[in-house]
Amino acid sequence: MMQRFDVLIVGAGSSGSAIAARVSENTGLTVCLVEAGPDYPRLEELPWDLVNSHDNSYRDHDWGFTYEPTAGRSVAFPRGRVVGGSSAVNTTIALRGMPEDYDEWAAAGNPEWSWTGVLPAFCRLERDLDFGDADWHGDAGPITIRRYPRDELTAPQAAFLDAADTLGYPYCADANEPWGYGAGPHPMNKLGRLRISCAIGYLAPARLRPNLTIRADTHVNRLVIRDGRCTGVEIADVAGEVSVLEARLVVLAAGALQTPPVLMRSGIGPGGQLAAHGIDVISPLPGVGANLCDHPALSVVCHARKGVDIDHDAPIIQTILRYTADGSDKRNDLQIEQISFAGRRGSPPSFAIAAVLEYQYGRGELLLASADPRAAPIVRNRFCEDPRDLSRLVACYKDTLAFAAVSPLADLVEAVTFPDAARGHDDATLETLCRNLAASGYHPCGTAKMGPREDALAVVDQYGRCHGMDGLVVADASIMPSVPRANTNLTCIMIGEKVGEWLRTRPALYGL
Ligand SMILES: Cc1cc2nc3c(=O)[nH]c(=O)nc-3n(C[C@H](O)[C@H](O)[C@H](O)COP(=O)(O)OP(=O)(O)OC[C@H]3O[C@@H](n4cnc5c(N)ncnc54)[C@H](O)[C@@H]3O)c2cc1C
Repeated sequence: MMQRFDVLIVGAGSSGSAIAARVSENTGLTVCLVEAGPDYPRLEELPWDLVNSHDNSYRDHDWGFTYEPTAGRSVAFPRGRVVGGSSAVNTTIALRGMPEDYDEWAAAGNPEWSWTGVLPAFCRLERDLDFGDADWHGDAGPITIRRYPRDELTAPQAAFLDAADTLGYPYCADANEPWGYGAGPHPMNKLGRLRISCAIGYLAPARLRPNLTIRADTHVNRLVIRDGRCTGVEIADVAGEVSVLEARLVVLAAGALQTPPVLMRSGIGPGGQLAAHGIDVISPLPGVGANLCDHPALSVVCHARKGVDIDHDAPIIQTILRYTADGSDKRNDLQIEQISFAGRRGSPPSFAIAAVLEYQYGRGELLLASADPRAAPIVRNRFCEDPRDLSRLVACYKDTLAFAAVSPLADLVEAVTFPDAARGHDDATLETLCRNLAASGYHPCGTAKMGPREDALAVVDQYGRCHGMDGLVVADASIMPSVPRANTNLTCIMIGEKVGEWLRTRPALYGL
């Protein structure tokens, strides 16, 4: 018998899990959450790579994608493939964007997403153990957040904060304070080692609800579209058996690298590209796969002095510096992060300091490789092609090199192994390095952006409703018009909170 749900969500990641949990609070709606990866409903059965937030999980629950950060280079692009999505494999940095990021989204024709519009959702999603009583924080949400106190920092992390002080950066106790700036502990969604993923925070309490079905190990091949309306999804189970799930509303939350391919395989996207793969164009939307944004980054790598404890089992990141490039009108458009260990276990003990560009002007693109539902997308980030991005990443990289040269961080350094000092650290050399080697901060977004219908590249409206297609909503990292000046997990959860809340409280907005 064909199964039919009120709401069917594709992808149990950061956004999809939050949406499923919020919508299923409305007992009048039946909800199905479909996920390609496996599900681990019991905490005691959670594999170690998903428990251990001290490092990312790169292999056991990954899609195996690659990307081209800068021209001519192909490297691995990790994405979580499991209930919890990328929130289940990530570093657990729980940072919000700058208020101006969301006001910029609002100014682009999405007034619901202004800072004052998103702040209640940011507060609702968190249980901040350090600042929960502040006006801009929450203390009762599903995602627990805390900061490492000084006595829990690894030696390189503590030295990083002291070096920041020496270099004149102010101390910032709460990096999520809306007007904050400077160096301090990272807000992180972990408790001890345990990664508080969206599977744990949102789905563990929701999965008992009789109106919520979680269907793992189920790959969505494409949307089913009849007479201009999305009526369900075509799925394949682990054995390759293909069937259809019907729904009154489909919410696509497969992430910034997977939502566009699902749309394109279903006939929604740039006409020429679809035709080239023999796909009938049902709704020509040129913005699908365009507008790819991210955070280009490049690290300084240091060989540690003898006796310095470089522990590959310690937390990989604990601290952060948010600051503004000289002459920039984008507040906190740069980030420097101390990485506790670098290289493989057994290689000479090393740590790294990462320079990250947080406000990106340039854009990349995502292309369909083939009509085959299992084919990986082609991802071209085109990092540092915009001169404004290049000059600010170079400036940030120079500031990062200064950290390795100042006490007490310098006291831990035997030698800077990258960049090679013999080649010099002049602007031209650093520009070449950034242009050739900048890599992703693992924050792709913007590939099905929201905006009004008049915006030629907008794919959905500000409520996530797909332009020109009834019964279809997109709600994940893809809908961000631009990357916020922060690691993206919290913003993806915020998107899930907002769309989930609209679905729960105003179903008529979505034709339910
Ligand atoms: C290694 C790593 C480290 C990171 N570290 C941080 C960090 O510390 N802090 C931070 O803020 N951000 C971090 N990020 C980024 C952050 O985790 C993501 O931006 C965020 O999780 C994306 O949320 P999403 O809902 O858009 O997509 P995802 O969470 O990726 O969810 C998409 C889900 O859809 C499923 N799916 C995809 N295609 C299909 C299909 N065809 N059928 C069925 N299911 C499908 C996927 O398996 C996945 O579960 C990191 C990301 C990675 C990969």
